[in-house]
Amino acid sequence: MGFNLSPDKITLRQPDDWHVHFRDGAMLGSVVAPTARVFRRAIVMPNLSPPITCIKAATNYRERIMQAVPEGIPFTPLMTAYLTDDLLPEVLEKGYRDGVFAAAKLYPANSTTNSAMGVSDMGSIYSTFETMERIGMPLLIHGEVTDKDVDIFDREAVFIERHLEPLLKSYPDLRVVLEHITTEHAVQFVEASGSLIAATITPHHLHINRNAMFSGGLRSDFYCLPVAKREHHRLALRRAATSGKPCFFLGTDSAPHPRSSKESSCGCAGIFSAPFALESYAEVFDQEGALDRLEAFASEFGPIFYGLPLNSDSITLKRHKHVVPDTFTSSQPITPDQGLIPFHARESLSWRVVENG
Ligand SMILES: [Zn+2]
Repeated sequence: MGFNLSPDKITLRQPDDWHVHFRDGAMLGSVVAPTARVFRRAIVMPNLSPPITCIKAATNYRERIMQAVPEGIPFTPLMTAYLTDDLLPEVLEKGYRDGVFAAAKLYPANSTTNSAMGVSDMGSIYSTFETMERIGMPLLIHGEVTDKDVDIFDREAVFIERHLEPLLKSYPDLRVVLEHITTEHAVQFVEASGSLIAATITPHHLHINRNAMFSGGLRSDFYCLPVAKREHHRLALRRAATSGKPCFFLGTDSAPHPRSSKESSCGCAGIFSAPFALESYAEVFDQEGALDRLEAFASEFGPIFYGLPLNSDSITLKRHKHVVPDTFTSSQPITPDQGLIPFHARESLSWRVVENG
């Protein structure tokens, strides 16, 4: 193997997805495959209903995920614990040391899908942060305040100032991933922090700004949390992702919802990016003239941050213009009600994954 870039073909080390939602039940059966076909490992979000808050729940969930992986495909789900006001630090420590939990996820209560049981007061779980700092367990953060008095477009910047800065002052050795960043503030904050702080960047936040949600009507397919921001933020994210700085790496935040839940009077937040995620990133790196940096972003900076070995297999993308289908099809039955719309539906992309080697 080895990185190989020609005008029409890229071979890179197999990537990992450092932020994905697999859901559960019938949906789980159909959405694991597109991730497992391209990514060797994935950090799996714990916001099920009820959320993953103990070792047994994580082990059982991992089992259900493995059953959904297509035959013969090597794939490792990396499980996370969902922090609540009363999850015991001892449970986290045991889960981490036993290799069940790769990290813990902090959702401020009511920040996004299934986060009602999230942390209501970060001050109340400081002993948890202390434990995580001591054992080196990564803290993954959905970085948005949930106060109704803060404008939705400002919630990430306010979270950083109000909660993240004080947290890192108190726990300077805590390893933190600020997930799915959406703003220039977040980019600057992460760049200015030490090597223990990193951020994931989704494909959709590299492609769309907030206008996408209102283009020709209300477009629920582009509604996600944190919401896409103004154009200058999108451009800052593109510069960050393609910068070659190890603090920024791939995390799709692929978050499927049945079509009926997206297209309702109170539609769910989430973009299902898994089916063409690597192609979507490749498009951005190509447009930015940075295809030579795609491998580091997709396949190296993540495992280095998590202290995991780099994958040894490779994957090849070819330049090949194709139109993304308007509905995701799966070998598993999906009821019409569950029809899933992939990111980039009906748009054309210039690269296509052709082989795993
Ligand atoms: Zn997410």
